[in-house]
Amino acid sequence: MILAKTEILKVSKNAGTAEDIEKLKFASDVIKRGGLCVFPTETVYGLGADALNEKAVKSIYEAKGRPQNNPLIIHLSDKKEIEKYCLTEGACGLEKLTSLMPAPLTVILKAKDIVPKATTGGLDTVAFRIPANAVARKLIELSGTPVAAPSANISGKPSPTNAKDVIEDMDSKVDVIIDGGECEIGIESTIITLCENPPVLLRPGKISFETLTELLGEVHMSHAVLDSLKPGEKILSPGMAYKHYAPDKPVILLKGGTEKKINYVNEKNKSEKIAVICYESDREKINCKDTLCAGDGNNNEAYAAKLFSLLRSTDKLDADKVYAFLPKDTSGISLAIYNRLMRAAAFNVINLD
Ligand code: AMP
Ligand code: MG
Repeated sequence: MILAKTEILKVSKNAGTAEDIEKLKFASDVIKRGGLCVFPTETVYGLGADALNEKAVKSIYEAKGRPQNNPLIIHLSDKKEIEKYCLTEGACGLEKLTSLMPAPLTVILKAKDIVPKATTGGLDTVAFRIPANAVARKLIELSGTPVAAPSANISGKPSPTNAKDVIEDMDSKVDVIIDGGECEIGIESTIITLCENPPVLLRPGKISFETLTELLGEVHMSHAVLDSLKPGEKILSPGMAYKHYAPDKPVILLKGGTEKKINYVNEKNKSEKIAVICYESDREKINCKDTLCAGDGNNNEAYAAKLFSLLRSTDKLDADKVYAFLPKDTSGISLAIYNRLMRAAAFNVINLD
């Protein structure tokens, strides 16, 4: 930290007022001076620092308790910036992907030497993203440097999607927290690497596997998206090897028909202290007092948007374990929900079919 205490600054979603810009100037000055600033994006809140300042980047790892070999995404305000930090020549499909940006989409390319190894976790590649959120883009633009930003949670916990959850994890560890309200998407960006041929999806998100395949032709999916890793197995995305997205209580996933899931938790509720995460449309049939809901069975976007805050809220409940309903399939954003829930539950799934 470079300030004596954490400043919390509330801004409007579109960063449109003169007062917003003054606050963002203050925050960008902190970034320029090597400090830490949490900011909203359309996916989750990010813990930002100057990506070109090795010391500042190291303090991100410290604040999160993140392993140093887990690389950071650099956030840019404009497409023109990409080639300052990435080798774009021969990167097949890059133009098609940038046509979607700004977006909840991260692309991995070979890194230029200007990007410190502290930022890339020692790799010769770098992940970049241009966020769609206006507050994030304005902050990056005013900072005049790429902003390295992992999710603003203590390593291993669910990512924060609102200022209250950020404050819980990061108060007095960072210089500034910009409160820009709830993140609309609620789960982290899609990550695709163009350093492989065909490109490989490393982390699913709002920009779906189907969209990427339609755009680029053939895209492979890393097996780490849905499967657990063997001990010591080497993978393209180091972050997938770590425990992730988990509340303190054990999470158990339920797969199968809706009625079967409902009957299962109602039965468990008779003898155990449980919490349930499910769809709004299931609520009235579930007897458990700690039933947390988002979306209906057909609205997985709403389920994704609330998932992390629901997982985090279970830590405050008087329950011993959490049962979460898996979506019916893995199409669209449901693949991202599967990916996050599988890790939150350490791959503990009960198939009721
Ligand atoms: P987070 O910072 O929490 O959003 O997570 C970022 C994810 O991107 C982690 O799983 C990282 O391992 C992954 N990542 C970042 N940079 C690279 C890179 N150069 N190559 C592969 N994966 C990366
Ligand atoms: Mg994260």
